[in-house]
Amino acid sequence: MIRNPIPWPNGAKCAVAISFDMDADSLIHIARPDDSHRRLYQTSMGRYGPNVALPRILDTYRRYDLKQSFFIPGWCLEQYPETAEAILNDGHEIGHHGYLHEDPITTYGSQREWFERTLDAHKRICGKVPQGYRAPVYNITDEVIDLMQENGMRYDSSMMADDIPYAIETSKGQLYEMPVHWGTDDWPPFAHYEEIGYMMPVRPPAAALAGFWEEFEAQYEAGGFFLLILHPFLTGRLARWRLIEKWIEDTLKTRNVWFSTLAGIADHMDALRKSGTWSPSVEKLPYFNKPPAKQWIS
Ligand SMILES: [Zn+2]
Repeated sequence: MIRNPIPWPNGAKCAVAISFDMDADSLIHIARPDDSHRRLYQTSMGRYGPNVALPRILDTYRRYDLKQSFFIPGWCLEQYPETAEAILNDGHEIGHHGYLHEDPITTYGSQREWFERTLDAHKRICGKVPQGYRAPVYNITDEVIDLMQENGMRYDSSMMADDIPYAIETSKGQLYEMPVHWGTDDWPPFAHYEEIGYMMPVRPPAAALAGFWEEFEAQYEAGGFFLLILHPFLTGRLARWRLIEKWIEDTLKTRNVWFSTLAGIADHMDALRKSGTWSPSVEKLPYFNKPPAKQWIS
């Protein structure tokens, strides 16, 4: 069903990672830089993430002894250092997610400044350089990949070229890719946010999550990789999180899965390569050196 399946630890049939992007109120400040300080509804909606949802999510992970990955903009680390501390104290991983959730496409050419400011926040607040990166709005570019390689980072989680983790290769070396896709992201079913251009019809929790669980069943059957990309202020709300928690409980009881951080999956891939038992599929970058349409459209 899938090419090049990864042998998971202890014979597990599927790797599972429930990742969170804790964007908090960075979204409104980057979308409306001139007057975001007056936009109280959007700021309060963002603050719900670190202040209300995160303690709930951490409590669930503690109860089931799960270690997971969180991606947090540098500005949010600075605004909510106690949240970062609680995440790290519980043994989870925090990855790079831009500084103020700036889009790497619209800031192309000046990513170094944003990227390094974020690394500086990670060093000060988390005490280390992050191993992983997820691009705000998934808009990763070659500029960012160069910066990741320059700073010794190990994996990205923004691209969609396969069902399971793979390698990306540039002239400067390799990184792992932990692939995302929109079918396992909570933005389409839950985001209703005019200022950042998303007015999705909000779906009832069970109906929205049913799509995720169908994705899981297919990955489980194929021996693959199930990655959720969630946001605390969306899926950390009571009715939605209650269902995720129930799914975690049922899955741990009835299925043979391996819950891991994405860095843990990168460790596992390293070990498999070292022992010669498996090697990843490779996507060579760049895909194009100039826009292919340029030859027909001026
Ligand atoms: Zn984000």
